[in-house]
Amino acid sequence: MTLDPPLTSPLISRLTIIGIGLIGSSILRAAKLRGLAQTVVAYDASEAVRDRALALGLADLVASTPEQAVRDADIVILCVPVGAMSSIGAQIAPHLKAGVIVSDVGSVKGAVLTALRGQLPEPSHARIIPGHPVAGTEYSGPDAGFATLFKNRWCILTPPEGADADAVETLSMLWTAMGANVETMTPEHHDLVLAITSHVPHLIAYNIVGTAADLEAVTNSEVIKFSAGGFRDFTRIAASDPTMWRDVFLNNREAVIEVLGRFTEDLIALQRAIRWEQGDALFDLFTRTRAIRRSIIEQGQETAAPDFGRERD
Ligand code: NAP
Repeated sequence: MTLDPPLTSPLISRLTIIGIGLIGSSILRAAKLRGLAQTVVAYDASEAVRDRALALGLADLVASTPEQAVRDADIVILCVPVGAMSSIGAQIAPHLKAGVIVSDVGSVKGAVLTALRGQLPEPSHARIIPGHPVAGTEYSGPDAGFATLFKNRWCILTPPEGADADAVETLSMLWTAMGANVETMTPEHHDLVLAITSHVPHLIAYNIVGTAADLEAVTNSEVIKFSAGGFRDFTRIAASDPTMWRDVFLNNREAVIEVLGRFTEDLIALQRAIRWEQGDALFDLFTRTRAIRRSIIEQGQETAAPDFGRERD
């Protein structure tokens, strides 16, 4: 998979990425490859990460402070964990140029909008348009990123009511140029949709892997040895970054608890169906869920290869 050739002229003059991890470094790579900005600037709180970004040539300028990073930026995208949005917002606020678009990639949108609104003067100064590329892997850091991460994936923008339409359009163009499909929705709806499609599935994976580790009657070496029976696929999700996911659950409490309530009720119903040997109920559910998997493959969001495309002899 590749990205389209570079644009004939950049979309903006200066793009700043704060947080050079999986997502930030993927944006940097895509922005450089496609020539999305005249100058691409990056900053990370970790000196080791900044050094690595320099060595990898991820940006035209790797700034040593947030102030330096955002100076004269047309678009600033915050690619830090959700819990760090407010503090980084406070650090950059006095140094933003008027009219700058401030966006982010956080996996929760309501809490990020509140955090950024609390720190950034609106509306004349900064135009806040939160975003969330629904793309990722279980890896972290500047080496984990790649330019095609967003290709054929969705990026959800959650402009607040009355947001500047030009700012939404510019940000949409940026994401589209990185290969993403863009959709807009309210922050509240985003948080509910992602609770069911991402946050609760991660919680289930963390939980099942934790349960297996704690099960006294089955040894850890047996769990690992026989993991191909389904467990292995949960471990991939449960290997995701602990800081990121702690922040997701702490900042999307309401929607996660709502979906978790529904999930628990459905799980009890399944337990009952097994106890009372209601095979038809189990068969009907498993048939419906198989159809959902097929739709995901048909819409290009997953491969149809057996065993998730793992190499076979
Ligand atoms: P990551 O690989 O861990 O990178 C985050 C980077 O931000 C780290 O280098 C971290 O440095 C740095 N950082 C933390 N606090 C900072 C601050 N105050 N100022 C500057 N830099 C700071 O994380 P990621 O996976 O790219 O995730 C970043 C954001 O994307 C999160 O909000 C997450 O919810 C969202 N997201 C993630 C995925 C995914 O699959 N991973 C998908 C979509 C969206 P230290 O390591 O030194 O703390």
